[in-house]
Amino acid sequence: MLAHAESQPHPKDAVLINANENPLGPCGVACDAVNSIASQGGRYSDWMTTDLIKTFAAAEGIKPEYVRAFPGSSGPLHYSVLAFTSPAKSYVTADPGYEAGAHATTASGARVVKVPLTKTYAHDMKAMLAAAPDAGMFYICTPNNPTGTLTSHSDIEFLLANKPKDSILLVDEAYIHFSNASTALDLVKADKDLIVLRTFSKIYGMAGLRCGFAIARPDLLEKMTAFSGWSAMPITAVAAATASLKDPRLVPDRKHINTTIREATFEWLAKNNYSFVPSQSNCFMLDAKRPAKEVIAAMAAQNVFIGRPWPVWPMHVRITVGTQPEMERFQEAFQHVMSGAAVSTLRPVPESPALQLDGLVIPATRA
Ligand code: PLP
Repeated sequence: MLAHAESQPHPKDAVLINANENPLGPCGVACDAVNSIASQGGRYSDWMTTDLIKTFAAAEGIKPEYVRAFPGSSGPLHYSVLAFTSPAKSYVTADPGYEAGAHATTASGARVVKVPLTKTYAHDMKAMLAAAPDAGMFYICTPNNPTGTLTSHSDIEFLLANKPKDSILLVDEAYIHFSNASTALDLVKADKDLIVLRTFSKIYGMAGLRCGFAIARPDLLEKMTAFSGWSAMPITAVAAATASLKDPRLVPDRKHINTTIREATFEWLAKNNYSFVPSQSNCFMLDAKRPAKEVIAAMAAQNVFIGRPWPVWPMHVRITVGTQPEMERFQEAFQHVMSGAAVSTLRPVPESPALQLDGLVIPATRA
């Protein structure tokens, strides 16, 4: 049996800008909804999930049967890889890109094809097509985790028009609300071969409450749910998600807050001659120009926890946009680390026995 992948709590007063979480947490009406539904937790109350799906479907102008709710989007991401990839059908992803789908191929046995981003940090559709004539699934994350950069709607249409016949696109829109990107939901409505993933973990601040959607043609959802089963949703998450969707100020206000803090951070970085990848999301890649693992360790020693590196960019670290005071502590610690003296004593953090991907803890035996 696999050992449980243990996680430790962070020290008190730590700045956590390592996991693309939202420091604001669930909005007020979501917290009220959780509190008032908790005592009903003895009932499955499936009707609440129906209501949540109808609320989302009406807002997006999509049929409710095209929407399935899950506790977060990690589940449907994993199940989609199981359903649409195999030893004969490869999994194609950007590099650097969000790694969870590639880890799911340990169960499906698929070849993982990693394709570098373009010079503008978009997914390189032509290279992805050329690299995998046997593709079962193309994973497109826009805005991309970790770069926060966009892949255009027309590029997604190009990929749909040119992909191998039986393959599908998995378009991960976890961070879409932070950006000006246009959604791919219109392509789902047009019955194309794609699944769109949404989550309440990011702009809605519900990473620990757990709610997300897979949105696709019903036949594609059926193939995926053959692997997921039909578990009931936690009613606390459903109540919070429904209340959040009905709050008209939540998305625009939080987008504005994130953009303001991100751009102020970029201004500070530029002023201090640090290079970064311009992002439209709640995270960005910062070029530390020295081994990322050392910088991560030195920042952690100052109680500022920053994101992981990607093997393809070993000198970059991923920074999540926190609150303004958190970003001020980040700036102070980063300046200290980068100003020579601290750097000579840097040591890489000991390798964790488990791989941590923004909330997904993968035991070392599977990482
Ligand atoms: N997709 C992307 C791109 C992510 O970055 C994450 C988590 O950070 C997820 C999916 C999974 O998030 P969750 O399961 O919390 O919805």
